[in-house]
Amino acid sequence: MASKGLLITPDICIGCRACQVACKEWNQLPASKTKNNGTHENPPDLDANNFNRIRFMEHADQKGVKWLFVSHRCMHCGEPACVQICPVGALIKDKDTGIVYYDKNKCIACHACKSACPFDIPRYDQGGKGKIAKCHLCIDRVRAGLTPACAKTCPTGAIRYGDRDALLKEAKAKKYKIYGETELGGLGVIFALTDSPKIYKLAESPKISESVAFWGSVLRTLVGRGDSTASTFVRYLAHKSTEK
Ligand code: SF4
Ligand code: SF4
Ligand code: SF4
Repeated sequence: MASKGLLITPDICIGCRACQVACKEWNQLPASKTKNNGTHENPPDLDANNFNRIRFMEHADQKGVKWLFVSHRCMHCGEPACVQICPVGALIKDKDTGIVYYDKNKCIACHACKSACPFDIPRYDQGGKGKIAKCHLCIDRVRAGLTPACAKTCPTGAIRYGDRDALLKEAKAKKYKIYGETELGGLGVIFALTDSPKIYKLAESPKISESVAFWGSVLRTLVGRGDSTASTFVRYLAHKSTEK
């Protein structure tokens, strides 16, 4: 199977947030309590019950002020730092599709993946066992030959799903500036932009910290010892390694 991906085109997003609702519905995620903080952006951040949200932002230039609506979610990196650091193999990059998904049963809630991720994406179940939660590109739907729920629902084509190479070709043919073609080994979520990535709050030149490989190796060695003291120490070390 060819690598799969999403093509996000903020300029044709109308901020309807149907993609957020579709994601919650498919993944059976409950509502999070939020409050009005002076913007239509809601929820204010990703969390264990929100794998995808639309950032609302204003941009002013010589032509005037415009509203931008930009999808915020896991980028399904070609070289995922989260997979590199996870000491128990709970995060997995699917060989067929390139999707980065996870196995909650394996997750030991060490939270190392949060600091390793150059996009600060992983979130953790609150009030539960603190296990990983993020967009998994609807790998269950994809394996059944279906389109991810967000892309299936989007009424304008601002989120499109398909073969990554074909999506890239299409965006280039339309003369968009591409974000995600080569970053971090090539992202599974590609953005078609009309301005610089910074305007859309996309990290310019994202990098994996050199300490990720080191911590991944240390944590795996400790987990390999298999005793409960080691597991507690892993959680302590992982939290230390994630302090910013
Ligand atoms: S964006 Fe972060 S969580 Fe998603 S695949 Fe990349 S490193 Fe992992
Ligand atoms: S691909 Fe699936 S899990 Fe990811 S944001 Fe879209 S609907 Fe949610
Ligand atoms: S469903 Fe499409 S148009 Fe609506 S907010 Fe999501 S990406 Fe934008």
